[in-house]
Amino acid sequence: MNNSNSDTLAQMNDLVIEPCLEINESEESAARAGFNGLLKDAPRGVSTSIVNGLSQQLIYQINLIFPDALVGCDDLNVDLADAAFAFLQPAAKQGLQKAIQERGVKLVVNSGYRTIAQQMLLYNWRGSNSNPVAPPGRSNHQSGLALDINDRAGWEPFLKRHGWQPLAGDPPHIDYRGAGVRDLRQATIKAFQQLWNKNHPSEYIQDDGLWGAKTESCLNRSPSTGFKKAPWDDKPRILRLTRPLMEGSDVRKLQEKLKAAGFAISVADGVFGPGTDKAVKQFQQQKKLVADGIVGSKTLELMA
Ligand SMILES: [Zn+2]
Repeated sequence: MNNSNSDTLAQMNDLVIEPCLEINESEESAARAGFNGLLKDAPRGVSTSIVNGLSQQLIYQINLIFPDALVGCDDLNVDLADAAFAFLQPAAKQGLQKAIQERGVKLVVNSGYRTIAQQMLLYNWRGSNSNPVAPPGRSNHQSGLALDINDRAGWEPFLKRHGWQPLAGDPPHIDYRGAGVRDLRQATIKAFQQLWNKNHPSEYIQDDGLWGAKTESCLNRSPSTGFKKAPWDDKPRILRLTRPLMEGSDVRKLQEKLKAAGFAISVADGVFGPGTDKAVKQFQQQKKLVADGIVGSKTLELMA
């Protein structure tokens, strides 16, 4: 497999182009509704943000396969909807950053990177005779090269100068078609297969990056909040306040330590929200560290 910088979107012939407007409606229609079961049991039509925990593990695992394949974009001048995972390939992010700087206004992103867990939900919920929904691994939102935005017409001239193109017939959708990117779709499936195997050594599946009935069955039986053994167990991630909010067992452990040290954490819910951010900053201040709310090795060390 050639993983150099030569892959382009044009080569991805088997992409399924989905009607993004319709998909966004279902993402926005409801809150998370407290669901924490298996993917296959998720009630139809709730927000795809119910799989945020699992989605974060999948993105982290993809970055273990290809370091920095997907980078967060919540540090740009963007406004993100609840379910919008603003992850892009670095070259696509750079182009977006230039376009935003040139226009000088905030870009509203309704949908960005979509993990195969989110795609599995949309695929499970697809109607019998409505528009196509791609099976996981085949969506144009799975490679970190696509966004759905507001005011596309206004953005078009700025985006076009930096590698981003509107998709005809799909009003909110734009694709990055510039240089320096790779086709990540197989890696997204491989990442899931590796995570599954880490957690189910007795039900091993081939980590070949190919979508099939076995992989589909395993994904449907995966916990929406993420697997017990997370990819960051071996290589800790830097915890901080992001959009969407970071969640997982590492966040819960951090909250428990803060609570034990007397800082105001009402519930150790495993979600790094504004309250946790505030407590981390107070802790850092007390320890005479830079109070930036970013949990790096120094902060962790002093918390132990
Ligand atoms: Zn789209």
